[in-house]
Amino acid sequence: MAQTVQNVTLSLTLPITCHICLGKVRQPVICINNHVFCSICIDLWLKNNSQCPACRVPITPENPCKEIIGLEGLQ
Ligand SMILES: [Zn+2]
Ligand SMILES: [Zn+2]
Repeated sequence: MAQTVQNVTLSLTLPITCHICLGKVRQPVICINNHVFCSICIDLWLKNNSQCPACRVPITPENPCKEIIGLEGLQ
């Protein structure tokens, strides 16, 4: 059986790395497959792309990344 990344869950206790800048996430947003990015990074990314840089799921106004609230304290 092929393993997928679908079982990745976001733990609020883990340090979270942005998939774009590979640094600590600031103002985290998350794709529907739980990939986390800085809101600034995904903003820039979406100027030239319309899919998640990690899993290529379409990111559109109908399917936006969601903001995560409550991670500020981890920085
Ligand atoms: Zn970033
Ligand atoms: Zn993704």
